[in-house]
Amino acid sequence: MITSYVSPRAIRIGAGAVQQVAAVLAQFGLSRPLVVTDPWMVSSGTVEKALAPLRAAGLAPAVFSETVPDPTDTVIEAGVKVLLAGDYDCLVGFGGGSPMDTAKAMAILAAAPAGAKMRQFKVPAAADAGLVPVICIPTTAGTGSEATRFTVITDTETDEKMLIAGLGALPLAALVDYELTFSLPPRITADTGIDSFTHALEAFVSARANAQSDTWALSAMRLIGPNLRTAYHQPNNAAAREAMMLGATQAGLAFSNSSVALVHGMSRPIGAHFHVAHGLSNAMLLPAVTEYGLEAALDRYAEAGRALGVAQRGDSDASAAEKLLAELRAWNDEMKVPTPQGYGIDRAKWEGLLPLMAEQALASGSPGNNPRVPEAAEIVALYRKVYAGN
Ligand code: NAD
Repeated sequence: MITSYVSPRAIRIGAGAVQQVAAVLAQFGLSRPLVVTDPWMVSSGTVEKALAPLRAAGLAPAVFSETVPDPTDTVIEAGVKVLLAGDYDCLVGFGGGSPMDTAKAMAILAAAPAGAKMRQFKVPAAADAGLVPVICIPTTAGTGSEATRFTVITDTETDEKMLIAGLGALPLAALVDYELTFSLPPRITADTGIDSFTHALEAFVSARANAQSDTWALSAMRLIGPNLRTAYHQPNNAAAREAMMLGATQAGLAFSNSSVALVHGMSRPIGAHFHVAHGLSNAMLLPAVTEYGLEAALDRYAEAGRALGVAQRGDSDASAAEKLLAELRAWNDEMKVPTPQGYGIDRAKWEGLLPLMAEQALASGSPGNNPRVPEAAEIVALYRKVYAGN
């Protein structure tokens, strides 16, 4: 069997890595960047951390800052207009997953004939072309988008969060600097950190797991396990932030070269219909979906429990897997992850959308990689189960 791996051509990881952005561009002969970011990055002045080194190198970076959380096709179209109207030779995605995914989707849509729509690229289509290369600088730890071949864009006509996959979404380079994450508030630290862990766990239990994705996934779980709570409670703890950031990138490499599974499949419709932050909707689902699949991959979930540090080598698989599940529930308690009901989602609206949400979850292809592959009715039952509590 042939296994194929992809990753950015250059990755620089460590404190101060963002200061090397101009050097990385120069390595690839690039000099006319359009920086894609979100309004907070501009209003807080954070975007200067990327702009200043570019200017210091004599470049004149332009900024597109209209990114929205869970980026939409309409924002991508607006971004493509800006990209095509200027003389840019690369995009720099600076921010959380939303700005990075926006930059990736802009490159993909701009390479298509005029009038093309983002939905033409959703899986199973292959989005392999990009008009210009994308360099990613994450500020959350995180989606791992800086290292993945994916971008996730919401179709505003159908409210569907579309998974778009291909080499066009793979960044040319990534600069991974944990010092950018000190400003993350506890809520976003928890949501994005659980998102990273979910990437690693799903990559590890996926039907598409392989030797290399396992290595990244296990390493990511070892980094995230002991450091998530610390980063949540102590935002300035450098060792915890560093471990979380490295774990997030490794988890991105893991799922980009394996896959995500049922949690992500079910999470995207919650985000699209109820505007719940991506990491938070993952966290709402993670314990129940893990419990659902536990018996189907007991050895893998047990190994994850050991990597996380909550189970020991001497624990039986059944015991180690149960300890993993208990830890996921404990995270949600300690880091105050609400249920969909607690979040304020109306029960009637939730119930009414469940068949569509189950259909959209299945259509994304992610549930097909789960150790236990659900029917639509089982997905509906899981959504019902998590509504008021796991
Ligand atoms: P985000 O980019 O939407 O950011 C969330 C909030 O955090 C924003 O208000 C942002 O301004 C703020 N923020 C970001 N960095 C900050 C910092 N350092 N300090 C203070 N505030 C900061 O959130 P996210 O969770 O990083 O990304 C979510 C998006 O990524 C979703 O659309 C999701 O579908 C997508 N995603 C993509 C992939 C992929 O492989 N492409 C993987 C997972 C998730």
